[in-house]
Amino acid sequence: MKLFVRAACVAAASAVLISSATAANVVNVYTARHYDTDAALLERFTEQTGIEVNLIEGKSDALLERLVREGDRSPADVFITVDAGRLHRAVEAGVLSSVESPVLAAAVPASARHPDGLWYGLAKRARVLVVSRERVPDTVETLDYEMLALPEWRGRVLSRSSSNIYTQSLVASMIETRGDAATEAWCEGIVANFARRPQGGDRDQIRAVAAGEGDVAIVNHYYYLRMLEGNAADRAAAESVRVIFPNQSDHGTHVNFSGGGVVARAPNRENAVALLEFLVQNEAQSAFAAGNQEFPVVEGAATTSLVAELGPFVESTVNAEALGLHNAAAVRMMDRAGWR
Ligand code: FE
Repeated sequence: MKLFVRAACVAAASAVLISSATAANVVNVYTARHYDTDAALLERFTEQTGIEVNLIEGKSDALLERLVREGDRSPADVFITVDAGRLHRAVEAGVLSSVESPVLAAAVPASARHPDGLWYGLAKRARVLVVSRERVPDTVETLDYEMLALPEWRGRVLSRSSSNIYTQSLVASMIETRGDAATEAWCEGIVANFARRPQGGDRDQIRAVAAGEGDVAIVNHYYYLRMLEGNAADRAAAESVRVIFPNQSDHGTHVNFSGGGVVARAPNRENAVALLEFLVQNEAQSAFAAGNQEFPVVEGAATTSLVAELGPFVESTVNAEALGLHNAAAVRMMDRAGWR
């Protein structure tokens, strides 16, 4: 397990954490997000509130295992991770506690938070389609996820593997909105249309479209934007594709969230709630989302110019908790369909 410790504590992390957990004005944050902007934002929180932030960074599953293992003795106050499917794992593991906050309830749309306040969405990503500018004519202005299962896309579709949480959450959202039978048929259709065996990350799907291995890929929007800002090769790849937000006239594009919740028996519960409330203020929202070219969850918070250029879109209003609830069914369905 690889963990990075920053902010106030450097050496002997656990010892420092445990002693500071009992001290007055701290909040201990376990986070699976690792953007420099997040650290800068937390410093601003300290300036505003006097509450010192101890930031423990790690991989989502490792941090969750640690929370479970530490149990009642955990110094953790806040758990932040990426994807509602992973937030659901934390819910299932019983490590989060319900927060009732008028501030959070007013700021975070209902679809972007757990119905019982076990976690709140903090940034939003859209699972979009990128198509080759060269091989998919401009006249193709709209596409739905469903269309990728039609015969005309045979041998042209690129996707990540079914072991990836982003893929699982997309299929889970389809189960919620389209039902089991339609989703299962879609899985079979899309597998039949794959350009190659699912492999690599989202960036690799975009690179594969650019390289002519396939003509359409399913990716999180920020990978496209970050490649536009990346090295020359990535920029060229991103410039060879265009983005289509699917299902604009019916279910909306599947979205997912980075989010955070207050840990069960958090030693500094009030400070934990204060931190979440800080993170949904407009300015904090903009900074938090900008770190990964995501959309803020709070209406009216400013986006980066690249995100703004992608334009407004119709998003799915499926409650994000459903993505976790249908996760196991989604995995089984993809397995049956031969989605590797
Ligand atoms: Fe990602």
